[in-house]
Amino acid sequence: MSSIAAIAKNTGTSTGEPLSRIGEASARRLAVSIHDVAPGFEGEVDRLMALAGSITGEHRLAMLVVPDHWRGGAIQTGSPFARQLRCWSDTGVEMILHGWSHRDDASHEGWKNRLRAKHMTAGEGEFLGLSRMEAHARLTRGRALLEDIIGKPVTAFIAPAWLYGDGAREALGECGFSIAEDHMRVWNPMTGERLAQGPVISWASRSRTRIASSLLFATVAPALLARQPLVRIALHPGDATVPSLMRSIEKTLQHFAQHREVVRYADL
Ligand SMILES: [Zn+2]
Repeated sequence: MSSIAAIAKNTGTSTGEPLSRIGEASARRLAVSIHDVAPGFEGEVDRLMALAGSITGEHRLAMLVVPDHWRGGAIQTGSPFARQLRCWSDTGVEMILHGWSHRDDASHEGWKNRLRAKHMTAGEGEFLGLSRMEAHARLTRGRALLEDIIGKPVTAFIAPAWLYGDGAREALGECGFSIAEDHMRVWNPMTGERLAQGPVISWASRSRTRIASSLLFATVAPALLARQPLVRIALHPGDATVPSLMRSIEKTLQHFAQHREVVRYADL
């Protein structure tokens, strides 16, 4: 199913809301996040932050931090990048743990998982094939590093490529994370409670075809998602390297921020 068809399937009256209430703007919310925040993407993250922050206010954004992106070297406490993270956190940016390395180096059981790992994520679904113990170890280590850097508790985790295996789901609850999200919902891993539901808009920069389909989806998203109680917008470092994507992101953020309350994940 295409992403547009998948979104359409989950739009509007599937929420069970009476049509008369669907137009109430007060219930409409927007959550904006910058993914893959790591030292190797410092310039791209700066540009996304400048663009999104100018529309929503920096203090309403979330950053998804990867402690050791593709095992190229973990973020060092005390480094300029770590100090920048702490500075953003102090201004109110919500810091969310986003895997350990982001790279899927697990061997996958079952053809469905092998297919998802290979085709949906280009090897980026780190938490899809991990055992409970391995997921637990990476969550604990990643959280300790991020908490050390920002000097505050970290309570939210979002898996790379939004993919969670059974081991990851169990470990998240055990480790005491109270917020996680996948493509369609935000939930509390400790209680299993659903905190919010709504689609994610993201752009892809990997090929011209993907860029074109991202741009197309962004143009129909305002009408298609108008009735959704929550819309999430996820920005990736690669977006900052394609001018047409940055223009589309600006327009999309302006539209949704104008029509919705911009919220933090912690407020959901
Ligand atoms: Zn990511």
